[in-house]
Amino acid sequence: QEQFKGKKILVLGLAKSGEAAAKLLSKLDAIVTVNDSKPYEENEKAKELEKLGIRVICGHHPVELLDEAFDLVVKNPGIPYSNLIVSEALKKGLVVITEVELASILSEAEIVAITGSNGKTTTTTLIYEMLIGSKKEPLIAGNIGTVACEVAENATSENIIVLEMSSFQLLGTRTFKPKVSIFLNLFDAHLDYHGTKDEYRYAKSKITANQSKEDFLVFNADNEDVVLVAETSSATLIPFSVTKQLDSGLYIQKGEIYYNQQRIVSVDSIVLPGAHNLENILAAIGAALIMGATIKQINHVLTTFSGVAHRLQFVKEFNGRRIYNDSKATNILASQKALEAFDQPIILLAGGLDRGNEFDDLASSLSNVKALITFGQTKAKLAKTAKEANVETILFAESIEDAVKSAYEQSQQGDIILLSPACASWDQFKTFEERGERFIQAVEKLEEKGI
Ligand code: ADP
Repeated sequence: QEQFKGKKILVLGLAKSGEAAAKLLSKLDAIVTVNDSKPYEENEKAKELEKLGIRVICGHHPVELLDEAFDLVVKNPGIPYSNLIVSEALKKGLVVITEVELASILSEAEIVAITGSNGKTTTTTLIYEMLIGSKKEPLIAGNIGTVACEVAENATSENIIVLEMSSFQLLGTRTFKPKVSIFLNLFDAHLDYHGTKDEYRYAKSKITANQSKEDFLVFNADNEDVVLVAETSSATLIPFSVTKQLDSGLYIQKGEIYYNQQRIVSVDSIVLPGAHNLENILAAIGAALIMGATIKQINHVLTTFSGVAHRLQFVKEFNGRRIYNDSKATNILASQKALEAFDQPIILLAGGLDRGNEFDDLASSLSNVKALITFGQTKAKLAKTAKEANVETILFAESIEDAVKSAYEQSQQGDIILLSPACASWDQFKTFEERGERFIQAVEKLEEKGI
């Protein structure tokens, strides 16, 4: 805690993480300067920090600022390294970190860190839930919850911090050393920021870079890029696989999940749908067991947990129809995963912002879809794809409320009604969360009307 006292620290970017870092560092008696691109007049956060005695510079990122001898730069993860002030800072030999590094320096609690291209939030939530009621109290941090350094500041050695981590955050770590790290998968995503797959993999590999034998890396033995990283790790390796039996680690045998030859739970009893979620579940079980979760609690979570909000979340069963909200599916790949999760006939609600792409890749996943209700800018394109895939019924809707109504009318007992839009929400909604909430509200209205 003492190490920041009197240090001159530049905080770049005033999103949630920058704000938390600035407040924390100022509390630790560092001399903090905040620099944010939003003009001062509209920058409420900057004004608030100023009241706390923090110096703020708003409107642009003046490179001359670096002439002041800063001891440390804390950068918002979203600001790319190509940004002039960041690249100049690095040229000058300044140490540039992200807020998660601060969290790991300050934390008295052990950290379980989760990364991967997909499945982070689900896995993080599962681990958190599985650790409830065990010896140490879990705290959830990162994208889903509170900013990591804020959680770390208040954590004790009696806590475990369960931390979701993006590659952008990981790139700004130096000494970060989680007790357990989890590497779920690596797909071609975010290459606009990272440049190449090698660089993206390098960013992710930082989750285990400082780990040693007494730490653990739970990793996906079915993903080549993940295995490449595991091969360079000094942590104790805990592989998981949904495709093959392993000598150690986590795997599935005759419908039962095993950890180091010990039977944990049967796949049949798991509520969370989708083959992809089995990977998240294996990883979560591994991490939770290492950190002291009981098999009883793990079973409890797996037999009751119905998904993180908006991620193939089970909403309810209504008149024999099971209704799911997968509003987070903002691209084709995510909707494919959702569609593959069900064997029953599906009424699919899809559509949204038009990014210029076609939906041909979705066609092969539409075999169980008996009706498509489509809305938003992409509705004509989606209708075309559904027609080519011989989807029986294709209907247009003006709003999500109309879509829910039509979906119910087209459905019968035993069907799945699934919102999995395959598109971003910004043509009709502020966020995918708002889209999901409106969907759920419309589903509740069905009941009120007694349809
Ligand atoms: P993240 O936090 O990494 O974005 P989420 O848990 O929020 O991940 O899941 C987002 C979407 O990613 C899900 O709706 C699903 O379509 C897909 N997904 C989740 N887990 C996996 C996985 N293990 N492999 C592939 N896709 C996945």
